[in-house]
Amino acid sequence: MPKLIYLNNKLVPEEQAMVSVFDHGLLYGDGIFEGLRIYSKKVFLLKEHIDRLYESAKAIRLVIPMTPEEMINATNETVAANGLTDGYIRLVVTRGAGGLGLDIRRTSNPQVIIIADQIKMYPQELYENGMEIVTASTIRNHPQALSPRVKSLNYLNNILAKIEATDQGKEEAIMMNHKGDVAECTGDNIFLVKNGKLTTPSKDSGILEGITRNAVIHLAKKANIPFEEVTMTRHDVYIADECFLTGSAAEVIPVTKVDGRQIGTGKPGPITHQLLDLFRKYVRE
Ligand code: PMP
Repeated sequence: MPKLIYLNNKLVPEEQAMVSVFDHGLLYGDGIFEGLRIYSKKVFLLKEHIDRLYESAKAIRLVIPMTPEEMINATNETVAANGLTDGYIRLVVTRGAGGLGLDIRRTSNPQVIIIADQIKMYPQELYENGMEIVTASTIRNHPQALSPRVKSLNYLNNILAKIEATDQGKEEAIMMNHKGDVAECTGDNIFLVKNGKLTTPSKDSGILEGITRNAVIHLAKKANIPFEEVTMTRHDVYIADECFLTGSAAEVIPVTKVDGRQIGTGKPGPITHQLLDLFRKYVRE
């Protein structure tokens, strides 16, 4: 079955899903996006993602030409039209086509694009044995320049850090914030466990406030796992008993080595296992 893409109020075949070369999403990375998961034909935490999309839009002065309710319906429609049981959704809103200049007043027609597709996950082996990551020298966007809480189409900052990881044969990199503390990874949030306590960098650490992060915090609290949002240093990572990353695509993935230092026993730890199990149950509820 050819893929059907939602583009501005219509489902169109993939080959017909086109945007202008003058779109400021392309010319300037001027736009926003979301990445969502489909589990058992249902979009996971759809409202939370749509809320974040509209918050990102508000922050960059982008008026999305449909209501959040219409966006929810359009997303569900796209999933159903593509007959997906499990998969991944990329929702994009661009500023629209305009002149060769930054002025948003010369743009018109923000483009709303919804792509529902198969998901490409990290290899299963990494979920069992943990992944090895590195720290990047590229820091996360300075919050005074562009808030990392905006999920904008301007991901160069994270792409440069990702290149540092792949250059070293690793899949992910930890990014520091402008203060030198740990913020998050290039496409995932980070958690540590030390002496039975779960921690993650606080919202004001220069992170994207992940929907998966918040779901894991919710599950940890329900399971009475001691938890705190913290200022996290690179040293805290090195001396942690357990480390894992969270993201819509990655779900909950254990980390067992950082910058050549073994984390804990070098195997995914008990709290990581517990939260991974709880998360996998939660997504199917
Ligand atoms: N941080 C960054 C920079 C991201 O791009 C993402 C999403 N890929 C995440 C964290 C995780 O967010 P979520 O759990 O909402 O997918």
